[in-house]
Amino acid sequence: MKKPLLLLAIAASAVIMLCGCASEKESRADFFSMNTFMSVSAYGENGDTAVKQAQSRVTELDRLWSVTAPDSELSRLNSGESFPVSPETAELAAFCAEFSERTDGAFDPTIYPVLTAWGFTREENRVPPESEIKELLTRVGIENVLQNGNEITLENGATLDFGAVAKGYAGDESARIMRENGVSSALINLGGSITTVGKKPDGSDWLIGVKNPLSEGNAGTLALSELSAVTSGAYERYFTAEDGTVYGHIIDPATGCPADNDLLSVTIVSENATLCDALSTALFVMGSEKAQDFFRENGSVMGFDIILITKSGEIAVSEGISDRFTLTDKSFSLVIL
Ligand code: AMP
Ligand code: MG
Repeated sequence: MKKPLLLLAIAASAVIMLCGCASEKESRADFFSMNTFMSVSAYGENGDTAVKQAQSRVTELDRLWSVTAPDSELSRLNSGESFPVSPETAELAAFCAEFSERTDGAFDPTIYPVLTAWGFTREENRVPPESEIKELLTRVGIENVLQNGNEITLENGATLDFGAVAKGYAGDESARIMRENGVSSALINLGGSITTVGKKPDGSDWLIGVKNPLSEGNAGTLALSELSAVTSGAYERYFTAEDGTVYGHIIDPATGCPADNDLLSVTIVSENATLCDALSTALFVMGSEKAQDFFRENGSVMGFDIILITKSGEIAVSEGISDRFTLTDKSFSLVIL
């Protein structure tokens, strides 16, 4: 099934900025990278320079990590080459390996062949036969990624894909560039992965929308400063099979099938956008109960908060951000964790 660009644009704004009003001059870049629409806004002196640098950094990361561009570092690894990768590739690969273990494989950066079998990478969706999924799963697993410093080797025909974390990493990098340029007020929206630097020029928090996964509007708003928020949900990219079943783009590595549980979306809030991105994908795979267990065990150690929207119409918000969250769609019921 081919998806019009408009749908991608809607998915990209899974979290929508609600307020851009400001008295100071806005420097802004809108661009397409990492297969999604992005916008970076900075206020005050050096804004123009910072925004340009952030855009070129994101584009550079996309060139390193695109799994469709044949000469990217990940494509070269995926085609069986073994070589010393760039420091950022090594850093993110090591993060992914550790995170995959920590989430008992719910997060798995080697899931790509299965994703391809479901047609998500080519936008030619299909339901693969069970035998094909089983066969592909033999190549999946973080144990197939051997890393020694910057040297990475993929064994057993495995492939590496940073699709679930790259935008988060790019958000952290963009925020670093803002601060290095002395920008103290910026909003970075990389396809719905939001990173905020400081506050709005008027001194208030950045207000962003948490999308209602069932309709066009927002379910609530989040007031953020110096924090990132990343949402994962099947509604962001999916297809409907002939029998009416809806299949989303986040795969449960335990089954090789799109994650199908009681969750509609997971939003993670943390100072670390890479962590937000990885966690939103992993907790979406886990389902509500396991996600809450994982949060109780790791939330304060790892430093993150959660918003879970369930199919039963509940929005569960962890206490740490309950004063930042406002429920705007009253058809949902709010629960504080
Ligand atoms: P996100 O939108 O950050 O949740 O990332 C979803 C993307 O990550 C998908 O489009 C796939 O490219 C990839 N992906 C799907 N399932 C997983 C998984 N279980 N672990 C890691 N990456 C995944
Ligand atoms: Mg993610």
